[in-house]
Amino acid sequence: MSPPHAVIAGAGIGGLCSALCLARAGWRVSLYEKAKILEESGAGLQLSPNACAVLRKLGVLERLTPFALAPQAIRIRRARDGATLALMPLNDAEARWGAPYLVVHRADLQRALLDAVAHEGRISLQTDAAVTGFAYGSDGVAVAISRGASRLEATGDCLIGADGLRSFVRQKLSPDDLNFSGRTAWRAVVEADRVPAAMRSEETTLWLGRKAHLVHYPLRQGTIINVVAIVDEDFQPDTDNFWSSHGASKFLEARFSRWDKSARDLLSAAPEWRKWPLADRAPAARLVSGRVALLGDAAHPMLPFLAQGAAQAIEDAGVLAEVLARGQDVEASFRAYQEIRLPRVTRVQKESRRQAVIYHLGGPAAFLRDAAMRALGGETMLARYDWLYRVRESPGQK
Ligand SMILES: Cc1cc2nc3c(=O)[nH]c(=O)nc-3n(C[C@H](O)[C@H](O)[C@H](O)COP(=O)(O)OP(=O)(O)OC[C@H]3O[C@@H](n4cnc5c(N)ncnc54)[C@H](O)[C@@H]3O)c2cc1C
Repeated sequence: MSPPHAVIAGAGIGGLCSALCLARAGWRVSLYEKAKILEESGAGLQLSPNACAVLRKLGVLERLTPFALAPQAIRIRRARDGATLALMPLNDAEARWGAPYLVVHRADLQRALLDAVAHEGRISLQTDAAVTGFAYGSDGVAVAISRGASRLEATGDCLIGADGLRSFVRQKLSPDDLNFSGRTAWRAVVEADRVPAAMRSEETTLWLGRKAHLVHYPLRQGTIINVVAIVDEDFQPDTDNFWSSHGASKFLEARFSRWDKSARDLLSAAPEWRKWPLADRAPAARLVSGRVALLGDAAHPMLPFLAQGAAQAIEDAGVLAEVLARGQDVEASFRAYQEIRLPRVTRVQKESRRQAVIYHLGGPAAFLRDAAMRALGGETMLARYDWLYRVRESPGQK
């Protein structure tokens, strides 16, 4: 009997991981990617233990580790004077949560995933191939693909929409609006030798200021620093091209002019900025319909305040493959996937929104937040992430 066959739309982190997870579960996979060339936008990615555990099972963590860095701690600093509000130790991540906490360059993760895909005979990957339509019935799916001037059709046992924030598959299943959140993310990479030594520590640093925060961490053996500044901003993104653009450093200089000098020095060392409008979408009522399932940003776009978008896409992939490997029919497996994943991803989406409010407080509310962080201390603050980072042995485990 020939193995079951999955068609996947989108070869981002979510699509590549799900192709690998399904192939390891014995499925044949056809992966279609709209872009002509696969390239990751932005530089850094925090990979929390819940995601690293899935990558480890796939053998991808092994490929990635030589290029990854395990930060010793997350340091939270006050914007106006740089005072440390909390230091959350990460050095026993493996013992505490069951897998390491890493920071990686997105291009390194993508390369590790693509290498693994290339070594997996059950996966075929086609670029410049956009999914443009689909229909499903009780015995399979038919998927329309546009490749340059050609039109193709692929048939399979299921379709997985891993086609990102502006997912075509999601729009077909449940049309709803993608909203601008009122915040923009500014990303840059700074050569480490242009930054004072104190700002090059092997930590993830999070600065909290009024209506803005700043995150930075070293990448690639500490040779570069990944910098992300997120600001509340009245910005009108072009809805047809809801994507990154060049960011003017003068804007950031003005917005961060009252911040501690070391934060300002880091910002001014950036050679160029790319700016992303941060999109938000209400949590979905469902992740599946018949033989079609959504995954990653297509299913649950989230604000990056918990650094969980890619991690949740990777978790989705692991769970999807595990339920499909149980040998039930596809629709029952997809219902099981939704039952396991929907409560968790909805919680992560909501907590990310809540974190957005807390991080950007100003005035007396910020004073109280800072006092509470100091009173709680790093260890207690870290315990608040145990539910998120702890590795689950099986998908059904709460
Ligand atoms: C500032 C910022 C910082 C972040 N930091 C972190 C972090 O530290 N940790 C973390 O876990 N997450 C982080 N995230 C979130 C993370 O980047 C995303 O959640 C993740 O990349 C989503 O992966 P995906 O595969 O679901 O979607 P995408 O990466 O968007 O991939 C979708 C793919 O589908 C393709 N596609 C689209 N339409 C079609 C079609 N019709 N047919 C075929 N292909 C199609 C696209 O070209 C794309 O390649 C951050 C996000 C931002 C904005």
